[in-house]
Amino acid sequence: MENFIFQNPTKLVFGKGMIARLGELIPAGKRVMVTFGGGSVRRNGVYDEVCAALAGRDTVEFWGIEPNPSIETLREAIALGKEREVDFLLAVGGGSVIDGTKLIAAGLLYDGDAWELVRKGASQRTVPLGTVLTIPATGSEMNNGAVISRRETKEKYPFYGNYPLFSILDPEKTFTLPQRQVACGLADTFVHVMEQYMTVAGQSRVMDRWAEGILQTLVEIAPEIRKNQHDYDLMADFMLSATMGLNGFIAMGVAQDWATHMIGHELTALHGLTHGATLAIVLPGTLRVLSAQKGDKLLQYGERVWGITTGERDERIRLAIERTEGFFRSLGLSTRLSEEGIGEETIAEIERRFDARGARYGEARNVDGAMARRILEACR
Ligand code: NAP
Ligand code: FE
Repeated sequence: MENFIFQNPTKLVFGKGMIARLGELIPAGKRVMVTFGGGSVRRNGVYDEVCAALAGRDTVEFWGIEPNPSIETLREAIALGKEREVDFLLAVGGGSVIDGTKLIAAGLLYDGDAWELVRKGASQRTVPLGTVLTIPATGSEMNNGAVISRRETKEKYPFYGNYPLFSILDPEKTFTLPQRQVACGLADTFVHVMEQYMTVAGQSRVMDRWAEGILQTLVEIAPEIRKNQHDYDLMADFMLSATMGLNGFIAMGVAQDWATHMIGHELTALHGLTHGATLAIVLPGTLRVLSAQKGDKLLQYGERVWGITTGERDERIRLAIERTEGFFRSLGLSTRLSEEGIGEETIAEIERRFDARGARYGEARNVDGAMARRILEACR
């Protein structure tokens, strides 16, 4: 096991009716900017519950943080927040609203253009933030990551800001999600766990089993959720899996990959494909190309998550990858670039971008432009 420091300061407030606690969670005397997406919260009662809980508080609203939050929109929010001298942020929505709000939190205390912060990759100086989560997927509600896009240049990069002070998760609020968003959320959660698990075998028994526990849970609940998305306990397990999948917990002392995510971000930036949908395409390709490097772990994964216990080593590895792709297909997602009409032009552009920035992703730092090309060619 590698050395590590683990500290996660986010207070998790989980369950039915918990939005009513907002008043006591936001420190007194703050001027709060409440941020929203495109309006789904108006249709599922979240907005009304937030307003009721914040009655009498000093608030400013900002609407319109879009999926894959863009710097263009966030600049407007930062300008409004500065003008109104906001000193607390409340993000109400999915990963996009939360991610965007993490950049706003840093931008409010920065004099230059917030895109400079994105290109720097991180900022420690931030206004505090809380969240009300409406979609299980990103884990953004309990980590300090954000992914910010720039429409103008079709770019998308990770940025590290602050951890939310608190996050309210009410599984009932996920009942209104479109089935495709549920599928993309399940895929994103699955791939977050894989990015931290599907690396080097034999690092930590306990971390392996936490990760496998989340993967097994997802495999078990996904078909049930597709049949009935209004089952509270199913959605509660999905929500908690997504949070636990990317809050630093399963990363303790182990190597991490993240090549699939970095390639996926490019597909979103270039084609507007939903985040989870890009991962369902890229992960099987990553596993196929790196199956020798990841072989021992793939064997263990095949056995423990998919029950593959017989056959030759190569056959078992092949089957584990096939089952992974099958899982994404069972969610109704594409798993090949050709299904999305993506071909050589995009592969060449991603290779060029990775080379230009000297990318070396993955646990072995061997996913550069040429390797990204091999992976994408294995996704065709
Ligand atoms: P999202 O982009 O926040 O939301 C997707 C869509 O779902 C939006 O159109 C939203 O509509 C709708 N929606 C949300 N909650 C709903 C509900 N309860 N009922 C009905 N519709 C609802 O989705 P996401 O997957 O959470 O976030 C994706 C972004 O997070 C990507 O940019 C991705 O790169 C990033 N990401 C971040 C991390 C991290 O660690 N920070 C990790 C992975 C991915 P409205 O806009 O109308 O609300
Ligand atoms: Fe993700």
